[in-house]
Amino acid sequence: QALTRDEFTLYFQPIVNLGSGEVSAAEALLRWNPSAGSIGPDRFIPVAEETGLIVPIGEWVIRNACRERQKWAVLGITQPRMVVNISARQFAQKNLVATVGRMLQEVDLSPEHLGIEITESLLMERPEDTIRALNAFSNMGVQISVDDFGTGYSSLSYLKRFPLDKLKVDRSFVRDIATDPDDAAIVTAIIAMAHSLNIKVVAEGVETEQQLEFLRSRGCDEYQGYYFSRPMPSAEFIVKLSNLPS
Ligand code: C2E
Ligand code: MG
Ligand code: MG
Repeated sequence: QALTRDEFTLYFQPIVNLGSGEVSAAEALLRWNPSAGSIGPDRFIPVAEETGLIVPIGEWVIRNACRERQKWAVLGITQPRMVVNISARQFAQKNLVATVGRMLQEVDLSPEHLGIEITESLLMERPEDTIRALNAFSNMGVQISVDDFGTGYSSLSYLKRFPLDKLKVDRSFVRDIATDPDDAAIVTAIIAMAHSLNIKVVAEGVETEQQLEFLRSRGCDEYQGYYFSRPMPSAEFIVKLSNLPS
């Protein structure tokens, strides 16, 4: 009903390159605003996943994120890649890759402008099907990130079996990074491991200058968090981009 009543919108949060300061990507985050007030994705996404409704909702997300990115291209915005979250349940659809390919064509968007975020649990389920789908995305030019890295079932062997571009270090490791030696050690090790596998690292949930400085000192590639910007509607995102020092 939320789909037919047009109650969903997308917000966009910048992902920033630590070296250049450029906004390298925009993560599309779903918002639901029913007439009775708003409900956070942490509450409705798990229900959508359990019921299978994440499939049509997820298609809405991909289609609208691609459309939005194409609008930015028309405005001459070349840089940020549009990144969408994809649930394991969506990968169970045999035609996910073809569906995404069709949506890109529909809006005339190049796959180099799209990225996907997947969960560690996906990499542990049906590995053969998942490898096939991820290879197809990767060959198209779609970038692949592992979301919330370090919180799921970790079998590090998947890091060499799948075509992964980025690991997103979960917010729970970043929060106390500047004060807790254990978190500092874990994040330092993740960065070193990823780099030796030729995978880039994005820190999630960066809220303070101290966290940012720590990440910079350890050679982290990119970050995302309230320190730079909260997720925001498309129009605000565009304003933010055009106000960056160049
Ligand atoms: P996620 O993919 O890990 O997205 C990052 C979440 O962290 C977002 O929450 C974002 O608002 C929040 N965040 C970003 N920076 C900070 C920070 O500095 N501090 C704090 N405390 N939080 C920060 P959000 O938008 O509520 O989304 C929650 C989760 O819901 C997402 O986590 C993702 O797993 C899921 N989700 C959201 N949109 C979609 C979607 O379209 N499809 C699917 N499958 N899942 C989605
Ligand atoms: Mg995400
Ligand atoms: Mg995350």
